[in-house]
Amino acid sequence: GSHMFDYMFKILIIGNSSVGKTSFLFRYADDSFTPAFVSTVGIDFKVKTIYRNDKRIKLQIWDTAGLERYRTITTAYYRGAMGFILMYDITNEESFNAVQDWSTQIKTYSWDNAQVLLVGNKCDMEDERVVSSERGRQLADHLGFEFFEASAKDNINVKQTFERLVDVICEKMSESLDTADPAVTGAKQGPQLTDQQAPPHQD
Ligand code: GDP
Ligand code: MG
Repeated sequence: GSHMFDYMFKILIIGNSSVGKTSFLFRYADDSFTPAFVSTVGIDFKVKTIYRNDKRIKLQIWDTAGLERYRTITTAYYRGAMGFILMYDITNEESFNAVQDWSTQIKTYSWDNAQVLLVGNKCDMEDERVVSSERGRQLADHLGFEFFEASAKDNINVKQTFERLVDVICEKMSESLDTADPAVTGAKQGPQLTDQQAPPHQD
């Protein structure tokens, strides 16, 4: 067919301010890293199409536009998201302690089948590490998420994080389809199966 992609997944990157969410997105989408602090104003999302599991998958990856600073992220932002990258900074204890709260937000506002990967970013800063890999892994296990340590700066595990998230979304989708439950397969916030994707809207 002439369609440009088979699926479109909306993915959100969340976590405390300055853990590296915007840097992570730029690294993945543009393969760039800007060392100066760039506050995220006016950037809503980036789009990247990847080939995975014999499918062309269009990822619409949303940044928080700096709103996490004011804790004003609303339900509209979460709507329709199929995957989350929940990020903390391995050199910042407070960002790690906030993971539980972010996880609760996801569970409160997002689609039930949304998949989450926990990412400990800035793993290039080993000398300043305050959160051990073991604690990260234990928290991820406790919350039922998969876990990666990564570095947007040194380009460690960035692509792998997105690809693993796409894979778990695909796995979850085929499980849901297998159940043949119309309440699941027809869920209006579920997988986007058409190529006639309406532009995202704000409410
Ligand atoms: P956001 O507020 O979560 O979007 O965080 P930013 O992407 O704006 O990054 C905050 C600061 O951390 C900036 O100075 C980045 O250059 C820096 N930073 C982001 N990712 C990394 C990383 O992987 N390693 C290091 N060393 N610094 C990073
Ligand atoms: Mg940002």
